[in-house]
Amino acid sequence: MERLERLCAEKGLRMTDQRRTIARVLSMADDHPDAEELHKRANAVDTSISLATVYRTVKLFEEAGIIESHDFGDGRARYEEVPDEHHDHLIDVKTGQVIEFQNEEIERLQEEIARKLGYRLVDHRLELYAVPLDAKDDPPS
Ligand SMILES: [Zn+2]
Repeated sequence: MERLERLCAEKGLRMTDQRRTIARVLSMADDHPDAEELHKRANAVDTSISLATVYRTVKLFEEAGIIESHDFGDGRARYEEVPDEHHDHLIDVKTGQVIEFQNEEIERLQEEIARKLGYRLVDHRLELYAVPLDAKDDPPS
């Protein structure tokens, strides 16, 4: 059983074939697909899965805390399994490519900022929007 399927079972979610397929597609994704991309992949396995079903299912999974949604600045929600280990994201604004990274210094700094403000950090989100260092500007016309 895929990790996500197991988590669904642990959370007591009733698993239909469609939900199981969507869970599998999410488990196999090593990128951050949006609902339409998930629909395309799930549909390749089971053509009866509608986009509306995908939307409902990701909402359900998100509410159960087994997947996370991200907004990487293009207004589309992207999904991924809640990872075992925390990571942050760098988004290449030219290509839309999403790179995952971990940085202990940033993690420490964020906890310190919260503490100085009188809080204990329980969660955070960090997205870096960037262009490649060797990116050339569009040539003059
Ligand atoms: Zn990620």
